[in-house]
Amino acid sequence: MKVIVVSGGVISGLGKGITTSSLGRLLKARGISVTILKIDPYLNVDAGTMNPYQHGEVFVLDDGTEADLDLGNYERFLGQSLSGSHNLTTGKIYRAVIEKERRGDYLGNTVQIIPHVTGEIKRLIRDVAQAAGAEVILVEVGGTVGDIESMPFLEALRELSYELGEGHMAFVHTTLVPVVGPVGEAKTKPTQHSVRELRAIGIRPNLIVARGPAPLTPEIKAKISLFCDVPPEAVISVPDQSVIYEVPLVLEAQGVGQLLTRILGLPDQTPDYARWKEFLGTYRRNEGVLDVAVVGKYTELRDAYLSHSEAFHHVQGHIGREIRLHWYDAEDIPTNPALLGRLEHADALLVPGGFGARGVEGKVQAIEVARAHGIPFLGVCYGFQIAAVERARNGAHLPRANTSEVDPTTPDPVVCLLEGQEGVGELGGTMRLGSQRILLTPGSRVAEVYGRTEIWERHRHRYEINPAYFDRLEAAGLRITGRSVDGRVEVLESPEHPFFLGVQFHPEFLSRPESPHPLYLALVRAAIARKEVPSPVSPSTALA
Ligand code: GLN
Repeated sequence: MKVIVVSGGVISGLGKGITTSSLGRLLKARGISVTILKIDPYLNVDAGTMNPYQHGEVFVLDDGTEADLDLGNYERFLGQSLSGSHNLTTGKIYRAVIEKERRGDYLGNTVQIIPHVTGEIKRLIRDVAQAAGAEVILVEVGGTVGDIESMPFLEALRELSYELGEGHMAFVHTTLVPVVGPVGEAKTKPTQHSVRELRAIGIRPNLIVARGPAPLTPEIKAKISLFCDVPPEAVISVPDQSVIYEVPLVLEAQGVGQLLTRILGLPDQTPDYARWKEFLGTYRRNEGVLDVAVVGKYTELRDAYLSHSEAFHHVQGHIGREIRLHWYDAEDIPTNPALLGRLEHADALLVPGGFGARGVEGKVQAIEVARAHGIPFLGVCYGFQIAAVERARNGAHLPRANTSEVDPTTPDPVVCLLEGQEGVGELGGTMRLGSQRILLTPGSRVAEVYGRTEIWERHRHRYEINPAYFDRLEAAGLRITGRSVDGRVEVLESPEHPFFLGVQFHPEFLSRPESPHPLYLALVRAAIARKEVPSPVSPSTALA
């Protein structure tokens, strides 16, 4: 078992997840099999009940685990799917320990953080590594070194490194090197303090990844090396990048791949980045600009829609046109008619998933604009459900149609709770979650987009299209072209529209740089086609 631990110092939000993912990519490029485990030191059992404003997007895995968004980065960088055991939280650990205690597994012993909680952490890390059968497991420790919350995890990792012995574990510490003052001086003191903190816990970093706005000079690297007791070549500079997918190459250029393989005693083959570089090359080709409007609820925090933004980045790396996302807060739309005017000039519209009543009327209005003006539209989960509401109101003459999530007393609950969800009391982990099989109608737009009629996509929802309205929605021009094996509506499309597709599932979770999701690609291609043959109702001027 070979382990790479990635910890963080000074502040959170340094891009530890991207660093970890990129380190994984370096090894993978050398033909070494890897897997990644994220440790989140909070007490929640999973990320499912967490507010996107506090924590960013909830990422859903194939097995239905609602995970931290870093799991999405891992999947995208490694091009491999992970399961729920790859996201450990303090809540999960404590739950396991307390269950064991209640069962009497500890045979009357006093149950303590050390050795019982740390023992459980080590056991779970070993289990994940073993089940994945990978040569190397990367373990990212969330939070910042010095936090009370992460102490048991770091202690467990220190113990593990002792147990595994020399040459089996590498510690990578990510820190901030801020640039301050009128002459823009890079400051190493926060890094020094943070490494001291780590060493006080008994962990000596092998590599320091210094984040900051600018590349480190050799002098600053030498200074960090001296104060932090790492060789100068192990001080790695990762300045901010315009595209996160550049980071593996930034690390590679500084010899990180060689350093890690040497520390872990692994063979160092020549890395293969052919497809990765091709993606980045196309990404930068810049053959024109596309303006995509995104109407959502958490637009102030972009991380809330991270997988959607990444899916568009993946498409950009495939088509060579710059895709600019324009974020609209759905709540502002009903009170600001100018916004709808602007939406009319968008090249495409995405309405992503969401929960609750806030902003729903704005989403209805935005979808109406896309429908009426022939703007390519993709509705995801809540966006799909609201597209059905819009069609019921404006196409099926049901003016008070709604989802019962918003209006429990609506006379026309086009979207409602179906069997299995009525009476569900607990909020955590109780939605329809994870990868499900979907059958697409042969000859439909969606089947053409996927190039097949059977797909698997990830889900996270409670409400569904109400079967009592299937006929009326179809009569109003929305075709049901995808269903789950048990008959739930998964896809709605509008054949008379250039591109109008709604999906109950979350395609954004499956998009990868080297294989962009077909729905995002099709949306953007439809936008390009429309731009190249401008129609009279939709002048293709850029958004303000
Ligand atoms: N709120 C909707 C539901 O629960 C949609 C969920 C979502 O967009 N993820 O069904």
